[in-house]
Amino acid sequence: MREQVYDQHRSWIEINLAALRYNVEHILKLLDDPKQLMAVVKADAYGHGAVRISQELNQMGITSFAVATLAEAIELRKNNIKGDILILGYTNPQDVWLLNRYDITQTILDQNYAFLLEEKHIDVKVHIAIDSGMHRIGELYDHIQSIENILKYPHLHITGMFTHLCVCDEMTVESQGYTYQQIHSFLTLVNELKENYDVGSIHILSSYGFIYYPEYLCDYVRMGILLYGVDSSFPKQTFLSLKPVLSLKSKVALIKEVSSQETIGYGRTYMATKPMRIAVVPIGYADGIPRELSNCGEVIINGKKTSIVGRICMDQMMVDITSIDDVRCGDIVTIIGEDGVVQGVEMIAKQAHTISNEILSQIGMRLPKIYLE
Ligand SMILES: *Cc1c(COP(=O)(O)O)cnc(C)c1O
Repeated sequence: MREQVYDQHRSWIEINLAALRYNVEHILKLLDDPKQLMAVVKADAYGHGAVRISQELNQMGITSFAVATLAEAIELRKNNIKGDILILGYTNPQDVWLLNRYDITQTILDQNYAFLLEEKHIDVKVHIAIDSGMHRIGELYDHIQSIENILKYPHLHITGMFTHLCVCDEMTVESQGYTYQQIHSFLTLVNELKENYDVGSIHILSSYGFIYYPEYLCDYVRMGILLYGVDSSFPKQTFLSLKPVLSLKSKVALIKEVSSQETIGYGRTYMATKPMRIAVVPIGYADGIPRELSNCGEVIINGKKTSIVGRICMDQMMVDITSIDDVRCGDIVTIIGEDGVVQGVEMIAKQAHTISNEILSQIGMRLPKIYLE
């Protein structure tokens, strides 16, 4: 049965929903209230499929979601996702009627942005972003007057206020100092405003903030990468034993022999130093395999890790199967996941000099997703 489904595809993503449920249950145990979990499902839920992941979370009682764009938010609503959906970044003020129509909460980027929304005279729910030191979006924490102006706009219904930490994943003395400074600036502002205003729900932490500064949970934790059961980087930083939700698989399309001194792939960057057996695997950088894995990444075939040889192409790559017995066309190639041995996305990220978040969000623009219950 399984094999039949897989046989339809050249390469595919497997999403293990049991692992997702396990991670969510594990995380919920660490919260005071399940309502504190704001699931970050931007970038198609980090490549996992935002609609399906959000449906699963809705079924588990999660009713708070965050995305990056209006289109992502509308897609969730059109698929009947219930609860609050917060857009964490810019939306064109022209589209405020869509925010209203689909009951989507918009982040206020700064005072001027608030004015541009307000002048449309359409009621909209908003969370005010506060810049406490990252210097990305947010009104600066000490611009009290500007923030009060935002709070007074009649069409903006303030349901929350948040800030974002920029070095909460680094445990150096300097980074910790900076993080406490950010938290202090934000909470001082909030306490001052609370004397005269209803500022709604307060939130500060994302995944690593939650790991290292759980005492500042407030009303929500905006959790992305940890839901998906992986760390941002290698080696692992988190103490939680979560399960990776996503696997990335392909299969052997073709096997060929090359002689010593022959080269493999574009640019002739790999030269065989002995007679070799090569498997051609139908997945490439257009499927999200970083080109930086050329001549350095690994895959798993028949329970053994083996090297990628030559440059990763747009749609294909070549791997060395000289020392793996019995490889046949159609055998499964695991790029992320487990087949006897494990290859985590963290390792791929390290080899590609980036973080897991980037790898996951780039995977699968054209790969089918198979959801395993
Ligand atoms: C993406 C994002 C998050 C989620 O970050 P993770 O590290 O994946 O948990 C949280 N907050 C904001 C503002 C974000 O942009």
